[in-house]
This record gives sequence, C-alpha cells and structure tokens, in this order.
Amino acid sequence: MVAASPAGAPRTRPPAAAPPPGAARPADGAPIAGADVSYADIVAAPKVLLHDHLDGGLRPATVLELADAIGHPLPAADPAALGSWFVAAADSGSLERYLETFAHTVAVMQTEESLYRVAAECAADLAADGVVYAEVRYAPELHLETGLRLEEVVEAVLAGFAAGAAGADRPVRVGTLLTAMRHAARSQEIAELAVRYRDAGVVGFDIAGAEAGFPPTRHLDAFEYLQRENFHFTIHAGEGFGLPSIWQAIQWCGADRLGHGVRIVDDIAVPAEGGVPALGRLAGYVRDKRIPLELCPSSNVQTGAAGSIAAHPIKLLHDLRFRVTVNTDNRLMGGTTLSGEFALLAEAFGWGWSELRWFTINALKSAFLPFDERLALIDEVVKPAYARRAH
Ligand SMILES: [Zn+2]
Repeated sequence: MVAASPAGAPRTRPPAAAPPPGAARPADGAPIAGADVSYADIVAAPKVLLHDHLDGGLRPATVLELADAIGHPLPAADPAALGSWFVAAADSGSLERYLETFAHTVAVMQTEESLYRVAAECAADLAADGVVYAEVRYAPELHLETGLRLEEVVEAVLAGFAAGAAGADRPVRVGTLLTAMRHAARSQEIAELAVRYRDAGVVGFDIAGAEAGFPPTRHLDAFEYLQRENFHFTIHAGEGFGLPSIWQAIQWCGADRLGHGVRIVDDIAVPAEGGVPALGRLAGYVRDKRIPLELCPSSNVQTGAAGSIAAHPIKLLHDLRFRVTVNTDNRLMGGTTLSGEFALLAEAFGWGWSELRWFTINALKSAFLPFDERLALIDEVVKPAYARRAH
C-alpha cells in the first residue's frame, strides 16, 4: 500500500515518450547518484520490453481526443491533469482498483481507427525511449463494443504497430501478445486467434485480470491447445496472488514465462543475520529452468505487491541470478517508461551499465522471437552498443 506515487509527485506524462515524471529525475547527462549512468544514457541504450499493455500506455492527449470524439466523459479535461489522475487512481494499492482505470482507455479503443492510432503511437513512444524490441499485449475481446470482429481488432493493431515503427526516428520492432481475460470464457477462441495471426506479428498469448478466484487452470484447454501448436505463452501469475498461482501457471499450464511472478520470493527464506538464502522447491525450479520473470517495479508498488522500489524483491531475485527482466506494465497508469523503470532501479540500488546490459540480454533470451532473430539482436544491436560503454 502506498500513499504517494513511486517516483514522487506531481506526476504527469507529456504526449510523447519523455523522462518519467518524478521531481528528482536528472533529465540531462548527469549521472544518477550512486550509479554510473545518467538518465540520458539509459534512454540512449538499446532496451527490450516484454510486458507492456497497449490499453495501459496511451498518451493522455490521445485519450482526451478520442473520448471527445465519442462523447465519453473523463475525470479531467487537459492532458497533464488526466495523466495525473491515471497515476493517482492506479496508486490506490489494490489490483482491482488499478484495473478500474482501464474502463476509460478501453472505452476509447473501440474502432479500427482508434486502435490503429493507439498502436502507432505506442510503437513511436517505445522507439523514442530506446526500446529496440517490445512485446505489447492487449485483449481483443475488450474491443468489440461497437461491433468490431476479433480479426478486425487484431489487424488494426498490427497495422498500427507497423506504421508507428516505420515512422519512428529509432529502429524498433513490436511483437503482439494476445491476452484473454481470466474471468471470462473466451481463452480458447483467443488462443486460436493468436495462432491464426502467428505469421503476421502475433508472437504469443497471455491471460490477465484479477488473479484471486480465477486460477490459470480455468483455461487449461487453451494452454494445451497452444502447446500442441508449438506456440508461446506467458501467464499473469504471482502478482496479486501467491505461490499456488505461479505453481499452476508453470506446472499445470506450461507457461514459458511468468507475468510478474514477483511473489516467488514467498518461497525463498532469507536468513535475518545474512548468509545464503534458501530456495523452496518451486523457487528452485523456476531458477533452475531459467523461467523468465516479467518484473514491473512501479506497477508492483502501485498494486501493493511491493512496498517500495527500494524494498522490491527484484534486488534479491537479481542477486540470486533468477532470469529477471524489467518491464513497464502500464506506462500511463505508472507515469513511467522503460527508461524510467531503469532509472528508479539505478537510484535505489546503484545499478548501471552492467545491470542494464544483463537485464536487456535476459529479456532477449526470453523473447517470443525465433532464436536466430533474438541472437541477431543480441549480437548486432545490444552487445555493440553496450561494448562502447564498457568500463
Ligand atoms: Zn500486466
């Protein structure tokens, strides 16, 4: 539970990718205190993002324009105030309350034109933030309110990503994950939709929504279907709910990755007087099998899954060499960017170039891209850029 937003207040998000709000952020080249990187360095470095929601990353100005066009009422009338409202509402401390903010973003994403625009701006914003590869997810079933078919939703978003990437100043590639809502009953249909578009830019599948009461095993048919299709999927698990959710996602459903998975620390005993932490069988399995954790520091603080950035289990999981990746979750609700997340970690833990490189390569190793394409990004884009920064 947090009273203030993790990066401080006031927090607003300008209409393009920009330094995350947060009063103390050095936006210039000055090193972050205790770290060997500046915020500008982090933005310049190639980064990889695996967990980002399309309906959680709209520009406030775009929400306003789209809402105005359809007569949808919003709680604020200018971009800065609306951006602040989203962050404050998402700061309430519960996952259920956090999800309420999506009523507004989803409401303005019900036409092909709006989906295309939001996707194009997403790709442009990620490119401007130095993201070279992203997997962006959304639930097609939430965008049918004005009569679109699932296929029309998917094609509008794919076209938007392509257009946004093509027009961006820096190279970015965006893959799509199709999400099914865990409280609904359309997961098999969405899984089949994802497989149908696998050669057009859909690289994986996911389930999302409130965890409590909706275990991943409700969607076992969909996961078994995806496995038979040799397709990839991640599952939101271990965010608002603990170890049973993670265990089901891996051992019953066969998830390739864990969306969040931060509660795996419940299976790690840390001696009070120092010494070597003891991993339980599930935590040991996750680490042994190199199962990627899609950690989202600011989002976890907002939903109460972590008390603060400084207290976030990412430090322990990093030190224990889990396959940790750093992600944004919802850039609008978090008032953040991927660079902003790394800056928060640099401030909290003194992490710099070597950690940024490690997290980036971890993310590429875990991406739902073919192996040769991941390797090409690592060898031709990431390693050369970080080698130039080596100390
Ligand atoms: Zn998420």
